[in-house]
Amino acid sequence: KKYLGECSERKRFYNELIELKGNIRVFCRCRPLKQDEIANGSTSVVDFDSSRENELQIVCSDSSRKLYKFDHVFSPEDNQEAVFVQTVPIVTSVLDGYNVCILAYGQTGTGKTYTMEGTPENRGVNYRTLEELFRASNERRSIMTYELVVSMFEVYNEKIKDLLVENSNQPATKLEIKQSFEGTQEVPGLVEARVYNTEEVWELLKSGSRVRSVGSTNANELSSRSHCLLRVTVEAENLVTGQRTRSHLWLVDLAGSERVGRIEVEGKRLKESQFINKSLSALGDVISALASKASHIPFRNSKLTHILQSSLGGDCKTLMFVQISPNLADLGETLCSLNFASRVRGVEHGPARKQT
Ligand code: ADP
Repeated sequence: KKYLGECSERKRFYNELIELKGNIRVFCRCRPLKQDEIANGSTSVVDFDSSRENELQIVCSDSSRKLYKFDHVFSPEDNQEAVFVQTVPIVTSVLDGYNVCILAYGQTGTGKTYTMEGTPENRGVNYRTLEELFRASNERRSIMTYELVVSMFEVYNEKIKDLLVENSNQPATKLEIKQSFEGTQEVPGLVEARVYNTEEVWELLKSGSRVRSVGSTNANELSSRSHCLLRVTVEAENLVTGQRTRSHLWLVDLAGSERVGRIEVEGKRLKESQFINKSLSALGDVISALASKASHIPFRNSKLTHILQSSLGGDCKTLMFVQISPNLADLGETLCSLNFASRVRGVEHGPARKQT
């Protein structure tokens, strides 16, 4: 699966990734304090040390500190470019035939969509990834040919909705996960758009986001309650050996991980939050089972983990962004997210700074 011209930097990265850390990486990103939070006198509870790019400390209300270590930590000063630079080696490994899965996890309002989708001025991982795939595949064109195909859908209350169908009267056909002949999980009927350049990709991503918010009076509200999955299928052919590979890259903006207040937990909201809790804990169970090399991996416990089955584990690359807020009012949720991410990584946090 290794590409002939892989540069030594990438080889070094993979060796480190596979031999030392396994295939699961966790990046933590903290958003800046918002204007209204600053106006309310809030100060950040997250302490960064610029000389330690993989740790952060949380200053708790009683002034005690909790240390967390990840594969990389991004402070509010780190922009989209800085985040993407660290992500490039993972996303481009799809061109070498690896299945890759990148997920953004965290409380609503912590920047999951900002990291993945971004804004027109500050585009996120999704767009930058496609741009990089076009660039890298062009660079390899004397040896390899690549076809890139994009699908985009959301999972809301365990139901799949195609986001590349402009007509919002769907579903005409119920979208379900089926196993293909090769043993991979597919969703028959899903739109698969072949893309040739970055302009097409941008239009497609914009239209997908539009469809995602249709049918909701509060777009943000709905998107925080569904998982949004962008799948890039890469068909590669090595012009020297004739070898063909087909691999998937998933870019996933997960539903908000927060526990809803007891007062809201009734009717529709209760059902939604039960589905979200179930799928996020299923995801945590799957990734930590993979990290600890457990013999049984419970993929079938949710639509989310079922569909991602062939892109998690084995020699697939997984990257989770755990998104956090620096605001004191969010401290409880921040600790929950950091603990979840530590569990996913298979490493528990320490009570105080300790050199290893
Ligand atoms: P989520 O998807 O987790 O609900 P959003 O991505 O919608 O959160 O982010 C909430 C708000 O914070 C948005 O207005 C977004 O633009 C802003 N934001 C999040 N992260 C950053 C960041 N790193 N830099 C600047 N603004 C950010």
